[in-house]
Amino acid sequence: MDLTIRGWRAVGPGKLESFEARAGVPGPGRVLVAVAGCGICHTDLGYLYDGVPTQHPFPLVLGHEIVGTVVAAGDGAGEWNGRRVLVPAVSPCGRCRWCRAGRPTACRASLMPGNDEDGGFASHVEVPARWLSEIGAGEPPPGAGGLELWELAVVADAVTTPLQAVRRAQVGPGDLAIVVGAGGVGVYAVQIARAAGAAVAAIDVTQERRARAVEYGAALALAATENPKDIKAALRKLCRATGAAPDGWRVLETSGTRAGQELAWSLLTPGGSISVVGYTAAPGTFRLSNLMAYDATAYGNWGCAPALYPEALALVTAGTVRVRGLVRRESLAEAPKIIEAVHRGEIAERVVLVPA
Ligand SMILES: [Zn+2]
Ligand SMILES: [Zn+2]
Repeated sequence: MDLTIRGWRAVGPGKLESFEARAGVPGPGRVLVAVAGCGICHTDLGYLYDGVPTQHPFPLVLGHEIVGTVVAAGDGAGEWNGRRVLVPAVSPCGRCRWCRAGRPTACRASLMPGNDEDGGFASHVEVPARWLSEIGAGEPPPGAGGLELWELAVVADAVTTPLQAVRRAQVGPGDLAIVVGAGGVGVYAVQIARAAGAAVAAIDVTQERRARAVEYGAALALAATENPKDIKAALRKLCRATGAAPDGWRVLETSGTRAGQELAWSLLTPGGSISVVGYTAAPGTFRLSNLMAYDATAYGNWGCAPALYPEALALVTAGTVRVRGLVRRESLAEAPKIIEAVHRGEIAERVVLVPA
């Protein structure tokens, strides 16, 4: 196979280096994807800047929000050749006891591009074929709902991760869903919880994100800096106004900050739940007895079960969950500059790196 892969490898804290490599024939059950777009996730920034260790040591190509076209296939994966695919951020092994028990998100033998092996900040990436979702054929892809292929990159992680959390928390009509942190993942949590029939409140530190959350379906947006008592009073008022239940609140923590986690914990109600979707290494202070007293539930959330990916794609291509206006296309050639700008918080949208 005569094909050169070009992209960026993380080689040290905050350091990316360009590389070129000849593509090999994909391994059994694996495919080579020509990347149409790869989103920059908060997790990538953690690996690159904050010393969060990747499973595979640097040098490593980061990036796990990948959409593209299969250009080569290994043994047993030939049927994927030429198809447009969404690559799950986490591919479970499919064989371990967790996978067999229907808990693929707890699989310890899963593969995550840009963590366990080279990822999508490149022209091509090799991934397992087993959990790919097809996006449809033709130009433009009829299965893409009028969206360009690169715009669907965020479905691989930013949309699917909150979908998993919302489904696991069994958010439904008559519920109040509270999204703490209305950033790149939270804004999809808002839309998905709303689509599930819940009244949704978003809580964030920035005015821009609060306004955006309302634009994308939140009935109420509150400043995270307000007193938790005032926040609770405003949420109870929202329940009265919308007919949502006064307890059993579904709290979705997507900020990945200590303050966000502590606030989310303070919003536990009888029969309620908290889903920890964001990550921070900082320890917080939580009175665990609230779980006991309220008979409440706390969930973790590592990625999304592959079985939910077609549903996530359908929500987006039907326009129920909107990505346009939330994503921004940038050139892969400018990756170091762009990732640095994302790290400095200068870009509000989810940036998708697109190879030239
Ligand atoms: Zn991610
Ligand atoms: Zn497994």
